Amino acid sequence: MAAETMDTMELPDLIPERERQVLRKGDAQTAAVVDMECNKASVAGSVSQRACVFCGSRVVLYPISDAIHLVHGPIGCAAYTWDIRGALSSGPQLHRNSFSTDLREMDVIYGGEKKLEAALMELIAKHRPNAAFVYSTCIVGIIGDDVDAVCRRVSRATGIPVLPVNSEGFKGTKRDGYRAACDALFNLVGTEPTEGLGPYSINILGDFNLAGETWIIKEYLRKIGIDVVACMTGDARIQDIGRAHGAKLNLVQCSGSMIYLAQNMQKRYGIPFKRVSFFGIEDMAAALYETAQFFGAPELMDRARELVRGEIDGIMPELKRYREKLAGKKAAVYVGGAFKAFSLVRALRLLGMQTAVVGSQTGDKDDYRHLQEISDPGTIIVDDSNPLELARFCMEKNVDLFIGGVKERPIAYKMGIGFCDHNHERKEPLAGFVGMLNFAKEVYGSVCSPVWKLTPRCAERYVQRKEAVS
Ligand code: SF4
Repeated sequence: MAAETMDTMELPDLIPERERQVLRKGDAQTAAVVDMECNKASVAGSVSQRACVFCGSRVVLYPISDAIHLVHGPIGCAAYTWDIRGALSSGPQLHRNSFSTDLREMDVIYGGEKKLEAALMELIAKHRPNAAFVYSTCIVGIIGDDVDAVCRRVSRATGIPVLPVNSEGFKGTKRDGYRAACDALFNLVGTEPTEGLGPYSINILGDFNLAGETWIIKEYLRKIGIDVVACMTGDARIQDIGRAHGAKLNLVQCSGSMIYLAQNMQKRYGIPFKRVSFFGIEDMAAALYETAQFFGAPELMDRARELVRGEIDGIMPELKRYREKLAGKKAAVYVGGAFKAFSLVRALRLLGMQTAVVGSQTGDKDDYRHLQEISDPGTIIVDDSNPLELARFCMEKNVDLFIGGVKERPIAYKMGIGFCDHNHERKEPLAGFVGMLNFAKEVYGSVCSPVWKLTPRCAERYVQRKEAVS
């Protein structure tokens, strides 16, 4: 959709098959919480914002920085996900490469197993990784390569774990890709000894250290007296994942991607889990308190309280200044997992802003029920949306800001509204207390930028045109 045409077009209607995946919250008196349709394959032709199964696996496993990540498929699949998260590592940088078997026409006819085995042997000899992940793409599912057998052979020959990721792109939704990644991770858990772990040790599941968030959260926990055995998968190492079964608790930050792993670890190793969020003041504080409370040691809770008090005192004066500038502004939020959306609704409220549109790629019924409970009357709630719908909702609500990921950025800019990347491309950490301040700064910088005087908002031009016609 070209910028020149966006304000001259009519707002598009919803595809009829999608109507039950969009809800408008009624006013406070009539707003009954209802079940939305969700967690299903995207409607054909709707041009969903969702990524494929393979991409879902790739984003979850990508930050494991001492492993080879080999994409078994045509070169396009590897190019599409090359350095997709930019996740930071405090050590090896191997994850930032995108290795591919580059399957061609003859491989499709005769099979790609020999090529896969040769690529694995060459890469392992050259880079000496601690493990290798092999991602199956669409074409591999179609030609039927026995990826599991190749991985077993190479693992025996090289002595390192070689893990197949059953992520053929066409075989489900991005959520199925998360599941395939969790299966691969679960095969690693329990492969290393757990001696030396302290009594207050936890794992973090679903933080990907995109801009250093894992380091911030680990530092908070360290100050309270809690050790992190493994973060899956931010700044992760194969050995740490191997001893993750020695932790006493799993904190699940991105539940969309990691709840399945947490459930499996509970079943096999008896490790309980808690769903938390590290975004926003309230949720960050709640995550620390819940973790301290879990261990039942008063000194942990005392230190958590002290830390939270100090951090909030440190950021509040500046946060108040941003709040004065942002009060009354409206935002649209469209993110991968719904749990992040909950935190964003609360964080925006803290800045005096209203969330007028909110949605996710992978939310389930419970997630959408909770979103209805915490949203203001009139909020549009949407599952598995597409660019035309999102543009329509932003126009209709005349929002000042769009919060999303790389695929939502052009939608926002074409409509002349501010944008905040809360996904792969962000460079400032948005988690923790310092992250809340960074978030406020970024929102303010984008919403109040003078550039919008030069590119007025589509919604305003649209309304003016309508008035002129009538
Ligand atoms: S796995 Fe399939 S859908 Fe995903 S990028 Fe490759 S070809 Fe496209």
